[in-house]
Amino acid sequence: MTDLPPIRDVIKRHGLAATKALGQNFLLDEQLLARIAAVPGDLAGAQVLEVGPGPGGLTRALLRAGAKVTAIEMDRRCLPALEELGEAFPGQLTVIEGDALKLDHNALMNGEPFHVLSNLPYNVGTALFVRWLSGEAWPPQASGRWQSLTLMFQREVADRIVASAGDDAYGRLAVLAQWRADSSLAMKVHRSAFTPPPKVMSAIVHVRPAPMPEGVSARMLERLTEAAFGQRRKMLRQSLKGVPGALDALASLGIDETRRAETVSVAEFVAVAKALT
Ligand code: SAM
Repeated sequence: MTDLPPIRDVIKRHGLAATKALGQNFLLDEQLLARIAAVPGDLAGAQVLEVGPGPGGLTRALLRAGAKVTAIEMDRRCLPALEELGEAFPGQLTVIEGDALKLDHNALMNGEPFHVLSNLPYNVGTALFVRWLSGEAWPPQASGRWQSLTLMFQREVADRIVASAGDDAYGRLAVLAQWRADSSLAMKVHRSAFTPPPKVMSAIVHVRPAPMPEGVSARMLERLTEAAFGQRRKMLRQSLKGVPGALDALASLGIDETRRAETVSVAEFVAVAKALT
């Protein structure tokens, strides 16, 4: 194993005091970082996109696992530390300075398939997640040819991603994350694992693309869930009134129009979207 100084020392030597505005909460525990890097399985020789490497804790775990890492970091203070890390793993690390929300991930990865791993800043996390899971093309293409997502979220958002119909956390995010992907909670992470500790608990979500149901438009499903969960306490006959044909589709599928969105399963939403597509 490549000998590296503890991340705490790297942070100190490069003066990387965490900045709240950039959502910086660093992970220092190398065992925990190795477990996170292992979530997608064997990464030896695999292409990995890491968003927000910071001082490089997760990055070094990925490099040790044999991955070829492209890392996007907005905070230029971190670049010298990442450059040092790259020297310890020749040819394995490319660092891009920039905002991950503004970059074309496909172009960065030269159109090759890749895994995404990231301890995301919470504000950026959901926006990227929605982008990676959206679009008509499937398996993912327009948003980057990703093969898996292994992402840190605040626990409440992770719960919304993996929720089932009937759960309090069930909503649009769950349907988006589950209708053509397998999304699971890989690990819970206590707030005390971060420096500085955030106010909330976190969890790692793991997502893999699954086959897309035939004959369903992603845009139609999105429109349905937006209308249904926009008025989640209302009956479907009220919340879906503005979606042409939706009430007829419910009737033909035997879905009671007096139900509320939060009771409608992902498969039922998909069936309605299919009938309307
Ligand atoms: N990966 C490191 C770790 O696990 O210790 C740092 C995680 S810290 C929660 C989030 C990192 O993302 C910070 O280094 C921050 O500068 C960076 N960041 C914030 N917004 C970003 C954006 N839009 N694009 C790229 N990096 C961003």
